[in-house]
Amino acid sequence: MRATECDSGHTDLPRRWVTRRGTIVNVNTAIVTGASSGIGEATARQLASEGFRVVLGARRMDRLQQVAEEIGGVALELDVTSPSSVAAFAEKAGEARVLVNNAGGARGLASVLDADEDHWRWMWETNVLGTLRMTKALLPRLIASGDGHVVTVTSIAANEVYDNGAGYTSAKHAQAALHRTLRGELLGQPVRFTEVLPGMVETEFSLRRFEGDAAKAERVYDGMVPLTASDVADVITFAVTRPAHVNLDQIVMKPRAQASATRAHRD
Ligand code: NAP
Repeated sequence: MRATECDSGHTDLPRRWVTRRGTIVNVNTAIVTGASSGIGEATARQLASEGFRVVLGARRMDRLQQVAEEIGGVALELDVTSPSSVAAFAEKAGEARVLVNNAGGARGLASVLDADEDHWRWMWETNVLGTLRMTKALLPRLIASGDGHVVTVTSIAANEVYDNGAGYTSAKHAQAALHRTLRGELLGQPVRFTEVLPGMVETEFSLRRFEGDAAKAERVYDGMVPLTASDVADVITFAVTRPAHVNLDQIVMKPRAQASATRAHRD
């Protein structure tokens, strides 16, 4: 991939032109949601090191700005659960070729009978409706780039169910159904769709799931080596740097010690 800077004359943000196999792809910008920590932060870093102009979105602006400064990206406040925040973000983000729908996570572990509706609402709003809003807002400009790409980080929870996990597994199943539907609906358009389904990744995910209980969060990874955020970022970066005719539809990745959502080998 060869990338050169030039003026856009269209937005106040700098823009790149990329020449790929003789085709002019007019914007080499990647938008990463949930880029203030974990998989999103690592993805923003790796895409920047591959020459992408990265626009980072999340709510914690202090962390977002720090990452953006380090990688020469642009930090824009984003709450994917708020239609007005998504609209304002999309307005400022400028043109783009890649969207990484990564913002999301889990809240709590409880049986269906004991389900906490606020936890369910949070998971559905963030993982499902957040992905819907971001995709609707940005898809036209991804297609206009001539080589658009939507990467959605779902989970092995999009393929499996487990006891006490229905809030998260149902949200990830729904997020995956939305993403996989787009693959068919947009067939024939210059846009690719890649779903990345990680197993256990050590990030702030478990800390947030257990609402700040660090000891409980650490126990999730007891006696095994989980994936790192960079492991997942590697895979996302690989997918979006393939030639335009190559679509990696689904990538399931787990630690060697994890066979399924409910089965891991621990020393
Ligand atoms: P993480 O470190 O907690 O990162 C979650 C990111 O989502 C943060 O940057 C957070 O930023 C952002 N976010 C949360 N709510 C948001 C909102 N309303 N608007 C915008 N951004 C929001 O966890 P992670 O593991 O990297 O999670 C990233 C994705 O991977 C999630 O979709 C998660 O479900 C998925 N995943 C994780 C694992 C795992 O084991 N870690 C496994 C499979 C899939 P702010 O709080 O600053 O807004």
